[in-house]
Amino acid sequence: MQPSIIVHGGAGDIPPGLLEAHREGTRRAVEAGWAVLASSGSALDAVEAAIVVMEDDETFDAGRGSFLNADGQAELDAGCMEGTQLLVGAVASVQFIQNPIRLARAVMEKSEHVLLVAHGAQRFAQKMGFPICDFTDLVVPREFERWQRFLRERTHAAPQVPADPADTVGCVALDQTGHIAAGTSTGGTRNKVPGRVGDVPLVGCGFFADDELGGASSTGWGESIARVTLARLALYHLQELGDPQAAAQAAIRVLRDKVNGSGGIILLSPAGRPGWDHNTQHMACAYRTARMDAPEVRL
Ligand code: ASP
Repeated sequence: MQPSIIVHGGAGDIPPGLLEAHREGTRRAVEAGWAVLASSGSALDAVEAAIVVMEDDETFDAGRGSFLNADGQAELDAGCMEGTQLLVGAVASVQFIQNPIRLARAVMEKSEHVLLVAHGAQRFAQKMGFPICDFTDLVVPREFERWQRFLRERTHAAPQVPADPADTVGCVALDQTGHIAAGTSTGGTRNKVPGRVGDVPLVGCGFFADDELGGASSTGWGESIARVTLARLALYHLQELGDPQAAAQAAIRVLRDKVNGSGGIILLSPAGRPGWDHNTQHMACAYRTARMDAPEVRL
C-alpha cells in the first residue's frame, strides 16, 4: 500500500500576519508524519508525530499556545482512533499536559476506556508517568493578554458562535500496511466556560477512522460539529459518493445547512486519496501522498 497523510491546523479567520506560521506549521507536521510512514511506521505513530509537532508550535490552539477558558486556564481535549480494530482513546478538560494526543493514545492502548475527563484523566496521566508541565509551558503571553482583555471587556451576553475558533490541529494517515488512523487536539474555543467540551474528543465528531471507510478529522465551531457528527458524516458521504473531495463538500454543506455551523474537515479514502473542505474563511491544510516529492500546503 502507498502511504498518505493529511493534516489541518484549524478552520476560521486566520489573521494575515499568522498565515505563514500556519503554512509552515502544517508543512512541518506533514513532514514529521511522512518520515514515520516512509520508514514503515504505523498510521497511528504518524498521526501522533504530526500532531505533537503542532501541539508544540504555539501558532496553534493545541498544547502550547492553546486558547484559555474564562478562568484563564488551558483546558485541553484530544482524541484518536485506529481503523483496524476501531480502538479509540480520548481525553477532555485536561490541564498541565504538554501533549494531550499522547495521553489520548495511552487511554486507547493502556486503559479499558474510550474517554477520560478532567481529574480522572489527570490521575491516569500521572499513573502512566506523563510529566506534569508548568502553566507557562502551555500558556503563552499572546493568549494570556487576550484573556486579560476579555476580562476587561466582557459582557454577560455569551456569543452564539465563538468569534474565532481557528487553530485546532488534526491528522489522518494511511500506512504501508493499509491501516488508517486519525486524531485531533485542541485547547477548545477562546474564553469557553470552564468544563466546556467541544467536538474534538468525541469519536465520530472530532475524528474517526475505519480501514474500510477511510479517516477524518474536524475543526471549527465544536457545538455545531458535534450535532452533525462531522467526521463520521464525511465518511458516510465518502461511501456514498466515492470521491473524498465531494464527500468533504457534502459534509460541510450539511454542517452549514442543518445547524448553521461552521468549520472544516480533512479526510483520506481507504486508498489514501485526500479531501478537505471548510465554510470558514480559511483552513490550514497540508498533505502528502506517495506520488508527491514534498508536502502540498493549502491555505
Ligand atoms: N472544534 C474545536 C472546539 O470547538 C475548536 C476548533 O476547531 O478550533 O473545541
